[in-house]
Amino acid sequence: MARVPSVERVMTSAGMAPLVAQYGRTQALAALRRMLDDWRRDAQAGRALVEALDEARLVQSVGAALVERERSRIRSVFNLTGTVLHTNLGRALLPDEAVQSVVEVLTRPANLEFDLASGSRGDRDDLIDDLICELTGAEAATVVNNNAAAVLLVLSALASKKEVIVSRGELVEIGGAFRIPDIMSRAGARLREVGTTNRTHLKDYDEAIGERTALLMKVHCSNYAISGFTKEVALNELATLAKARRVPVAVDLGSGTLVDLAQWGLPRETTVRETIEGGADLVTFSGDKLLGGPQAGLIVGRADLIAKIKKHPLKRALRVGKLTLAALEPVLRLYRAPEFLRERLTTLRLLTRPADDMRNTAERVAPALLHAIGEEFSITVEPMFSQIGSGALPVDVLPSYGLAIRLASGKRAGRQINRLEKILRELPRPVIGRVADDALRLDMRCLEPADEAAFIAQLQAKGARE
Ligand SMILES: *Cc1c(COP(=O)(O)O)cnc(C)c1O
Repeated sequence: MARVPSVERVMTSAGMAPLVAQYGRTQALAALRRMLDDWRRDAQAGRALVEALDEARLVQSVGAALVERERSRIRSVFNLTGTVLHTNLGRALLPDEAVQSVVEVLTRPANLEFDLASGSRGDRDDLIDDLICELTGAEAATVVNNNAAAVLLVLSALASKKEVIVSRGELVEIGGAFRIPDIMSRAGARLREVGTTNRTHLKDYDEAIGERTALLMKVHCSNYAISGFTKEVALNELATLAKARRVPVAVDLGSGTLVDLAQWGLPRETTVRETIEGGADLVTFSGDKLLGGPQAGLIVGRADLIAKIKKHPLKRALRVGKLTLAALEPVLRLYRAPEFLRERLTTLRLLTRPADDMRNTAERVAPALLHAIGEEFSITVEPMFSQIGSGALPVDVLPSYGLAIRLASGKRAGRQINRLEKILRELPRPVIGRVADDALRLDMRCLEPADEAAFIAQLQAKGARE
């Protein structure tokens, strides 16, 4: 067996000095030991190369291993899937105001729970609840980690050991782990299902209300739609019944928009304000779906119910950190000037991007892409459909533009297309598209002009390497 050089000798070699300076001796030494251990293991299996023990090569391998280890596991990607609020790709992108605000609270102390007026202890919700009330028309508000937490907290605080009445048509599952019946039992509430999958009437709720009823609940169907012979009870009818029977109504809006999206030609969604005006006593919704902010769950509604929710021990466990509050406040403030919203709120800007804009982007990036992927493929600029995502308005699709990549030979070739998809996914800043019908589709909706140069530069670097 070849002689493995001494660890000490390699560590003190000239080539190692810059690595020790950059990563520290501990990491550099550990990386070298791993390298030599691997070599010994390979040698025993008869697979090791003696040249690999060359001092310069060892140092180079240690350097490469350290670079790889230091690379962030959470990385930015190009979202060309066409889904704007892609849960797996981090949902809403935040505007600069929010980023600046987060940087501030990350690097400086802040009045998170300190009342600057009195100099005494404050409540972190106070920083933001007035703004939420102003934008939703609610009496009171509180914020937790996400909307699933908001629903769990509402049920735990108001319906533990009691019954909650929900229509069978609204017992939804949202992305695997969040199912209304499961959340209900976790919160210690008893689910009382009424109606049928396709039709639920006011009298179904009426007949189910009893001594043990704590809450009537409506849930936004988010990621599914039923059509045909259907009937759901409108919120105002349900609220009238609830008031007469002295039971509160909670609505889980899911995405929960603060403005009427129809004014920008997007599909209409009931706003949070309309839901409050429609008679909901409590409304829960996400911060990082249509709202366009950070991951958070907002609970708004009647002051007495919000006070009860805030006193529940789970509120402490589910509370948001300062980063969330710092990001949420500037996003909410944008809603005070609806005339600028389309331009300033990143989510809305992406959802309303003009078709010409996306087509121009597609045409500008196509040559670099073609050069990088090679002659085997053909690229065409095509109309396609984007989705809002995150369960918002599942049946509505947004006309969009993008690139469709196929085999130049015109042959059906799932394998080559899948290989290409993988190559793009393994770029330093991965490019995520979607494969369907023997084509890789790259939707340009989320490739904004500010990112175009980076997208092209990465492809040119790849082309040059090969
Ligand atoms: C998305 C959604 C949730 C979960 O919200 P998160 O913010 O992802 O926790 C709950 N209910 C409905 C109706 C939803 O659409």
